[in-house]
Amino acid sequence: MTGARPVSLLERRGPGYVAVPMKAIREEAACTVVAGCQWGDEGKGKVVDVLAGGVDVVARYQGGANAGHTVHVGDRRIVLHQVPSGVLRPGKRCLLGNGVVLDVNRFFAEVDGLAERGLDPGGRIGVSDRAHVVFPYHKALDAAAEEAARRKIGTTGRGIGPAYESKAGRRGVRVADLLDRAHAAEGVGRGIAWARARLRELGADPGRAGTVAGALALARRLPSVATDVGDEIARALAAGRRVLLEGAQGTALDVDHGSYPYVTSSNTTAGAAAVGVGIGPTAIDSVIGVVKAYTTRVGNGPLPTAFGPAMDERIRELGAEFGATTGRPRRCGWFDAVLAAYSARVNGLTGIAVTKLDVLDTLAELKIATGYRTGGEARSLFPACVRDLERAEPVYETLPGWRTPTTGARSMNDLPANARAYLHRIEELVGAPIAMVSVGTRRSQVIRAR
Ligand code: GDP
Repeated sequence: MTGARPVSLLERRGPGYVAVPMKAIREEAACTVVAGCQWGDEGKGKVVDVLAGGVDVVARYQGGANAGHTVHVGDRRIVLHQVPSGVLRPGKRCLLGNGVVLDVNRFFAEVDGLAERGLDPGGRIGVSDRAHVVFPYHKALDAAAEEAARRKIGTTGRGIGPAYESKAGRRGVRVADLLDRAHAAEGVGRGIAWARARLRELGADPGRAGTVAGALALARRLPSVATDVGDEIARALAAGRRVLLEGAQGTALDVDHGSYPYVTSSNTTAGAAAVGVGIGPTAIDSVIGVVKAYTTRVGNGPLPTAFGPAMDERIRELGAEFGATTGRPRRCGWFDAVLAAYSARVNGLTGIAVTKLDVLDTLAELKIATGYRTGGEARSLFPACVRDLERAEPVYETLPGWRTPTTGARSMNDLPANARAYLHRIEELVGAPIAMVSVGTRRSQVIRAR
């Protein structure tokens, strides 16, 4: 790859910067992953929408209809659940990889909704023939399991967890299977029988598993979108086109690397991008990690840097922190550099995109967690055990606020000095260069590395 150079929005690095061995951001990168680096809702939709302007193909690599990306285009607010955020850029090919679990009806409802709003995705959308399908019985299992659970995960109830369980348990039915009518009834029938037994065990009505005919009806519109996503991406890259791989949720929700068991059922981190679309890891040459300028969490599980109630409410209102999929209020907290630095390592970040800086514009001072104290001992590593995370007392450093609107800033020099200092500190602590700063919901409200 020629012309690689490290790009940072900040002119200098502080003395505390630890250089992690990683590739430099390549502005001309052919294949870029965008992954969330907190507990999801980092603003990946906006970052992907901005970056999608410069690519030809956008593909989702994991998750399902539980994801919710909000993108503002002009005066329109568009919430996307399964369709990649790149769809809002005319002419871009938008794909759902094999790592995604597909809620067929919701997917087509989303496609039709975009068409009704004049954003016709038409023939631009493709779904991997290897993607697993979420059936009504997965949703019934999700609801029944959450009702019965002693320790609730706080799932979105969309059947995502049970669909991934079916996949790992080799009971799943994929898009290609559903299109093969001769065999589809058998696979779906087995899935329903298994689900009925499980529903009985959970004390729920087995009738909620639905029927084979109902499940098979989902195949109706699939032939128009089914494709070999890995092959498409490989061909695009071979032809010199640019590809963006879009993650859902965030690193702390990754099934392996997150705050297990309060996690989602898939690998959200950048390593999953290759697996989730069907290319090799060597095809990826840039990874942008998205972090909010503070931290939020929806659903259950620990949030070490949680604000007290008054500040929580203030930032929730200022940042409109309500789930795009469920409308649930998100818990809010200070920027957690322990988590972000961990995410930088796990994802192999080549750059960071910091979103929602503007939400902090009115604060007199800001805190950043630089370590966790657990039982008297301060550590800077994100713990494996959720009980350590629950007990973790953040070690904070305090920085002065800027108390000036940043929403009009389009370059780092437009930002107040204290806002630059805040970003600079984040860059130092996280150990990856800042490639983008978002200062509002609109497409234009962004500062980009040049
Ligand atoms: P995603 O799932 O990571 O895409 O995140 P969500 O869409 O759930 O949440 C991001 C929300 O923040 C959306 O409503 C965005 O419009 C909004 N947003 C993104 N970037 C910014 C920003 O820089 N400033 C403000 N105020 N809002 C932003």
